[in-house]
Amino acid sequence: MPTVQDPLMIVTDLDGSLLDHHTYGWEPAQSWLDRLNAADVPVVICSSKTAAEIVPLQQALGISGAPWIGENGAVVNGGDVSEVPPLIPDGKDYPAICQTLAQLRNQQGFKFIGFADVTEKEVSEWTGLTPADAALAKDRQGSESIIWRDSQENFDRFQQALKEQRLALIQGGRFWHVMNEGSGKATALAWLLKHIPSRAGQPWITLGLGDGPNDAPMLDSTDYAVVIKGYNNTPVTLSRRDEARIYRCALYGPEGWSEGLTWFLAQE
Ligand SMILES: [Mg+2]
Repeated sequence: MPTVQDPLMIVTDLDGSLLDHHTYGWEPAQSWLDRLNAADVPVVICSSKTAAEIVPLQQALGISGAPWIGENGAVVNGGDVSEVPPLIPDGKDYPAICQTLAQLRNQQGFKFIGFADVTEKEVSEWTGLTPADAALAKDRQGSESIIWRDSQENFDRFQQALKEQRLALIQGGRFWHVMNEGSGKATALAWLLKHIPSRAGQPWITLGLGDGPNDAPMLDSTDYAVVIKGYNNTPVTLSRRDEARIYRCALYGPEGWSEGLTWFLAQE
């Protein structure tokens, strides 16, 4: 079992994991956050959220300056720790992704609507975020979130057309996310680990925590995986078979987050 003295990195989803699904609070995780902070263990957010949402949250959580992964792995940031080059150097930025989407819609008549097509008020209605927070969710760098309003047949054509533009679709809870091919939570984490020097040059020991099916690739790629009890109907299915390194929580959200860390990290 790892300890906080190891070159440990915590990689965590936010909603339903470190943050409560309903209240967005993290009180039950605070004592572990304090302990990790005191031991200099980085807590790396790996989320669908944008930079504009993640950076203030890091501040509130007391983990400012830590590396983070945003927009479902479309954006990787080394924080104060290290410069991390872009994951897809010749990839499309947000305006270019939106431009490609607009062209596909105009030329082929696909029916879908994205964050770039609407106001904060509409994003707020779709997500339940306040209009101010919806503005932060709209402030995107490397991926577009869309709602598909067309047939399955056209969806398959759309996916093929995106592929020809070297763009990929990732399914989230509410939206489809369009991003550069080759990005995603797991590849973003591998890229980050390559560029963040660890303590004493030892390889990082990673512990991932997540509650949703879209966390599975990340949880398959970390050394230890905590599957937090979630409200999703779809179970979190991992490909890994090293059961001793997987822990499935009895508790939801930040209670589960804390339960999982206590399970794996030997108590002094
Ligand atoms: Mg989640």
